Amino acid sequence: MAMIELGGKVYECAPPHSVLEALTAQGEAIPSGCRAGVCQSCLMRCLKGTPPAKSQEGLKTSLVQQGYFLACRCYPESDLTVALGDGPGLRQSAIVVRREMLNRDILALYLRPEAPFAYRPGQFLRLHKEANLSRCYSLASVPEFEDTLELHVRRIPDGRVSGWVHDTLAVGETVEIGDSTGHCFYVPERQDHPVLLLGTGSGLAPLYGIVRDALAQGHHGPVWLYHGSYALEGLYRQAALQELARRYPNFHYVPCVDQTGAAAEALGARTGTVLGALVADHGGFSKARVFLCGNPDMVKDARLKIFLGGASMADIFADPFLPSGS
Ligand SMILES: Cc1cc2nc3c(=O)[nH]c(=O)nc-3n(C[C@H](O)[C@H](O)[C@H](O)COP(=O)(O)OP(=O)(O)OC[C@H]3O[C@@H](n4cnc5c(N)ncnc54)[C@H](O)[C@@H]3O)c2cc1C
Repeated sequence: MAMIELGGKVYECAPPHSVLEALTAQGEAIPSGCRAGVCQSCLMRCLKGTPPAKSQEGLKTSLVQQGYFLACRCYPESDLTVALGDGPGLRQSAIVVRREMLNRDILALYLRPEAPFAYRPGQFLRLHKEANLSRCYSLASVPEFEDTLELHVRRIPDGRVSGWVHDTLAVGETVEIGDSTGHCFYVPERQDHPVLLLGTGSGLAPLYGIVRDALAQGHHGPVWLYHGSYALEGLYRQAALQELARRYPNFHYVPCVDQTGAAAEALGARTGTVLGALVADHGGFSKARVFLCGNPDMVKDARLKIFLGGASMADIFADPFLPSGS
């Protein structure tokens, strides 16, 4: 058993419980979300002791060096003194400069950070509504092309943050955002190998950034983007993606919908799921780098199928849009 000190109080943390589970069970209000090491809501900082390496996987080197760790992935073997991690130092202000409905449910929100904001397209940031209420949104913009941050926010019925973004947040208002984070982004290596991108709904946001980044960085192997929706009106950015496909012969845009008919055919949309279309188009995935974003069930199924199809787990980058737990 390890002892965890937080704010002058000491708590027990024994297997099989994580620091997050131990602290919340003993009455501490620790922000948390997916509890799977993805959303990074439960970021904490270790002031004394050494957090296990697993609890720092996926964090930026600069955060690791400062002792940050994920409480949901932290099963300590020795005592730790910790603090809440999402302090003001990790946040900055940004001004809402534009809003645009991309379809009936998805809004593009454009933010201008008040200080330089480093990120790679496809990473995500935390948008704060109030002190203890924030959500992750992926970055669709490319810093080399755009000077604002672009987020695609899907309206969730009764959603506390997405509802606020859609109904209340206005151009000219200032919001707080967290640092960019996550490992879903393109790195210019093995540029002749395939890159496969699968997303549903607002899962297009990170992929829209990644694909433009990869092509701009000279990726010359085949790049396939599958975007899925229940119907044609759930798709968006088709014209921009079709234009990209005209400019880059190695880029293939495959919209997928659950409907058939003339309109779907005119757009070249496939009927069925993104995973079904991917499997139909490719014999195997042994050399592919893969990006999966959006619906958690799709991400889970695709990860397994693509891994069984020969891709290395290290080449599969996934951001399931898991609902937040708080
Ligand atoms: C790494 C990461 C990146 C993300 N990127 C994006 C993004 O680019 N665009 C985007 O729109 N979202 C994204 N999300 C999801 C986003 O963080 C929020 O979970 C989402 O906006 C809902 O928050 P909310 O406060 O509006 O709803 P909440 O108030 O948290 O939930 C309201 C109700 O809806 C349910 N619910 C929550 N989410 C969903 C869902 N997805 N589907 C169905 N029911 C749900 C809840 O269980 C609850 O009952 C991302 C999530 C993660 C973890």
